[in-house]
Amino acid sequence: MTFKFDNSYAHLPERFFAHQNPVPVRAPRLVRVNARLAALLGVEPAITTDHPSAEVAARLAAIFAGNTVPEGAEPIAAVYAGHQFGQWVPRLGDGRAVLLGEVIGRDGIRRDIQLKGAGRTPFSRGGDGRAALGPVLREYIVSEAMAALGIPSTRALAAVLTGEEVLREVPLPGAILTRVARSHVRIGTFQYFAANGDTEAVRVLVDYVIRHLYPDAAHAAAPVRAMLDHVIAAQAKLVAQWMSVGFIHGVMNTDNMSIAGETIDFGPCAFMDGFNPAAVFSAIDEMGRYAWGYQPTITHWNLARFCQTLLPLLSENGRDAQESAQEALDAFPVLFETAWLGIMRAKLGFAEVLTSAGIESETGAADRSLVKDLLKIMTNHGRDDSGADFTLTFRWLSELAINVGDEEAQAAETRFMGLFAEQEPVTSWLARWRQRLSQAEGPMPGGDNMRQERMRAINPTIIPRNHLIQEAISAALEEDFAPFDALVDALANPFVSQSANAYFMAPPRPEQVVTQTFCGT
Ligand code: AMP
Ligand code: MG
Repeated sequence: MTFKFDNSYAHLPERFFAHQNPVPVRAPRLVRVNARLAALLGVEPAITTDHPSAEVAARLAAIFAGNTVPEGAEPIAAVYAGHQFGQWVPRLGDGRAVLLGEVIGRDGIRRDIQLKGAGRTPFSRGGDGRAALGPVLREYIVSEAMAALGIPSTRALAAVLTGEEVLREVPLPGAILTRVARSHVRIGTFQYFAANGDTEAVRVLVDYVIRHLYPDAAHAAAPVRAMLDHVIAAQAKLVAQWMSVGFIHGVMNTDNMSIAGETIDFGPCAFMDGFNPAAVFSAIDEMGRYAWGYQPTITHWNLARFCQTLLPLLSENGRDAQESAQEALDAFPVLFETAWLGIMRAKLGFAEVLTSAGIESETGAADRSLVKDLLKIMTNHGRDDSGADFTLTFRWLSELAINVGDEEAQAAETRFMGLFAEQEPVTSWLARWRQRLSQAEGPMPGGDNMRQERMRAINPTIIPRNHLIQEAISAALEEDFAPFDALVDALANPFVSQSANAYFMAPPRPEQVVTQTFCGT
């Protein structure tokens, strides 16, 4: 198998990384390869199925386990630092990941190919450099689901078993994930060099990011500031998208924030079932620092750390640099609010797009309270103690008609109301929603159908629910990969009709509820 490597990061100055081959493993075995992603990357010969024949699978497994280093790869482990739960850690780096190299895909986009769990590196600190099967499958499922939901994310090209055990609290099967990303440069990468006073390295990094991720910034009057603005805008949009599907990242440390604006690092992440804005799943997040509703605040905080690393480059004059950084940072709340309200209005079925000026208008304010009030009702009046199911509320809202007439419309109404314990607040909210819709769109014939189609295209039927992920992992630990495969397959089309996805749509039964997730490191 060949990748057409076109490496750039490995050609940066030596202090950006360590040369590091993956450490071979005993008995590589392919769990799954992502044939469609391989095609996008231009891998040859073409991989035509996610489950190739034994002979092909063996060859792929050797590559994705790191036992065979493909031609043109220049394997490295990158250095970075970061704030973990607010605490400064001066040196982290790829402690268990090896970047094989970069390829330019059929779509012209450059992407990193990285093996995660590929053995010890100079940045491993106390760790074994390995990954366990559970977290590898979790990342495969969730990162691919994210991408299918239309949310920028790193991707999963393959999962392999290593044939070796890793010791966590108990011995677990070892595995390796092949991660594909627009870039692995993080806020923490900038922080590492800035904290060492290595302004020259920060400049190299800025040039790298502009060239590969935000090329139009090169032509701006102030390129560094233009790049900063791009990163802030990308993060504002990303966190709004996460929240719009009930996603909690769980470990928003600055080393886990991609400069490319992709979701990266799926350690203790979770999608909510019942809505609760204070929800936290990560076992190590005791303070709720990374709760669902706190994610914009944390993003803003992380971006402030990013700004600090750029101060020497924003202006030679310290005060001007401060002012420029502050101005860029101050744009975040409005950027977030515009993105968030934009998505939520679309989820409610409103067709017209509001600009950032529009969200300040009377319409913007009215729509914001409509969104807020629905979320409040979901929190306080869900049928279960845990709040109304986030995914089903929006999906089933999509099926409602403006005028409840026929039997079908009545059934949709009943199903939606069934998500709530108390009917009155929901009924009056629905009246406001319907009024807003008819005011916005007029009583056009076929209006319901068009709006329903629009809403179905943004309100998924299925998301990777915690209990489904758990089920897939538990079965895989017993050598049964069918539930994992079925879940990955279903999540590739998260907006399709309810009947096709019935099993994956259902919220957990009480005994299936997962209350905590773990980094698994
Ligand atoms: P994460 O929690 O995955 O964002 O990882 C934080 C840091 O710990 C990164 O520098 C990782 O490379 C490192 N790390 C996590 N797990 C391991 C491991 N098993 N062995 C070595 N380093 C690890
Ligand atoms: Mg990380």
